[in-house]
Amino acid sequence: MISINLHTHTSWSDGKNSISEMLQSARAKGFKIYAITDHFQTKNAVEYSNFKLTVKEDNLKPYLNAIEKEAEAFPELLVLKGVEVDYYSQFEDEIQATLEKYDLDVVIASIHNILPDCFDNGPEFWEKTAASQGGAVMFYRKYFDWVGKAAKSGLFDIIGHLDLVKLFNKDERYFSEGDAEYVKTVKKCLKAIKESGIAVEINCEGWSKPAAREYPSRWIFHLLKQADVDISLGGDSHDINSIDANYQLAEELLHEIGITRLVYFVHRKKHYLEI
Ligand SMILES: [Zn+2]
Ligand SMILES: [Zn+2]
Repeated sequence: MISINLHTHTSWSDGKNSISEMLQSARAKGFKIYAITDHFQTKNAVEYSNFKLTVKEDNLKPYLNAIEKEAEAFPELLVLKGVEVDYYSQFEDEIQATLEKYDLDVVIASIHNILPDCFDNGPEFWEKTAASQGGAVMFYRKYFDWVGKAAKSGLFDIIGHLDLVKLFNKDERYFSEGDAEYVKTVKKCLKAIKESGIAVEINCEGWSKPAAREYPSRWIFHLLKQADVDISLGGDSHDINSIDANYQLAEELLHEIGITRLVYFVHRKKHYLEI
């Protein structure tokens, strides 16, 4: 098994287990490099969003201190201090000003909300967001536009679950990934990613979600490989049992696409693990 997990949660946000419990499980399952990346929202985002299970700035320092302290009991693990930031285009300046103040190893940018409601909370929230944007096509265009903006901002190391917008699109219920418009939209976003140097993750949670697909879709991974974009591997693990969930599928995907190294970050600097 590949011994790296760069995207995990704890009970500091919406995870079910403590830092220590997650690290014990990671060690037992043979991980060597393990990042804790709880959800984080800046002040305005906290006000705006209906998603409340997040680290806030008031407890960001205690959260980072707790990771450092708990990691001392696991010398065989490289434990990385991270956050999964909720990216909102309108709060970019605040995100920049906030992140600058803290000593982090890795920062993931994710878009879960465009409205105050988190569109990945259920199909009804997804549909509400789509309706607010003028339909599914306008929604995914806005979504990928924000992903591109997050990449170009230079504030983040990794794009989290790049095509989360397909979450409830099982059997292409809302749109087809083969549509010329969707392909064009994704390609425009990938251009921003390529130019920015940001990494993109394989997010193993996708296979367990309603879409039951890898994040990002295979055809997007082939384009990422062609563009030589750095790839990271994250379980998006929320409890001790899911730390290595779907890793077999992820390894098969990496092999199929021909990716031979994974990126990880220490003090926001790139390192590589050959696989
Ligand atoms: Zn996420
Ligand atoms: Zn996550």
